[in-house]
Order: sequence, then C-alpha cells, then structure tokens
Amino acid sequence: MKNIGIDVKPSSKSCEDELCPFHGSTKLRGRLIRGKIASAVLGGNAVIEKQYFSYVDKYMRYEKRRSKIHAHLPPCIEVKKGDTVTIAECRPLTKTATFVVIEKVGE
Ligand SMILES: [Zn+2]
Repeated sequence: MKNIGIDVKPSSKSCEDELCPFHGSTKLRGRLIRGKIASAVLGGNAVIEKQYFSYVDKYMRYEKRRSKIHAHLPPCIEVKKGDTVTIAECRPLTKTATFVVIEKVGE
C-alpha cells in the first residue's frame, strides 16, 4: 500500500480503483474535513454532511449550520450511512466530487 502523506489507519482491504489514494494514482492536497455520511454507494460516490458554527452579529451568538460535500468512495473503505469519516481534497474526480474518503473514524 502507498503512503498518502496523511497519518490514517490503513484499511485492510485492497482494491483496483484508479481513483483510490491508497491503491490508485490520486494525489491528495488541500483540506481535510471530518463529517458524517449522508448517503454512500460503495465504489462510487458518498455525500458527507459537515456541521459548523457561524457567528450572527445581531444576536451575538453562534448558529448551527450544515453543508453537504460530495466525495469519491473507494471500494476498499467500507462505510454506511451515519458513519463519521475523514475526507481529503484532491483534483476533481467527477463533476461534483473534489474530495475522497480516506478513513472511517467511527460509527
Ligand atoms: Zn483502495
């Protein structure tokens, strides 16, 4: 397995996916984001929901916001809806996905 330059616990499975950062040729650079899986197709696309806080001047408080990010899901990483994952930024892999799932953090 290839070293992807990010300290993650490696998946035990292997795959033939050209877009997989571990077994293919995808290079990672840019942001790392942690979020929850909103939907996932194995070997295809995953939608990650990320929560963040935004400051509202008028009320001097934070409001909870969420956004969805599309990411490529390699076949060697097994996740299901509701799991927490780490995604890393890479070149645009499909029309909407510029991130790839690199690690499953928890259920
Ligand atoms: Zn792989």
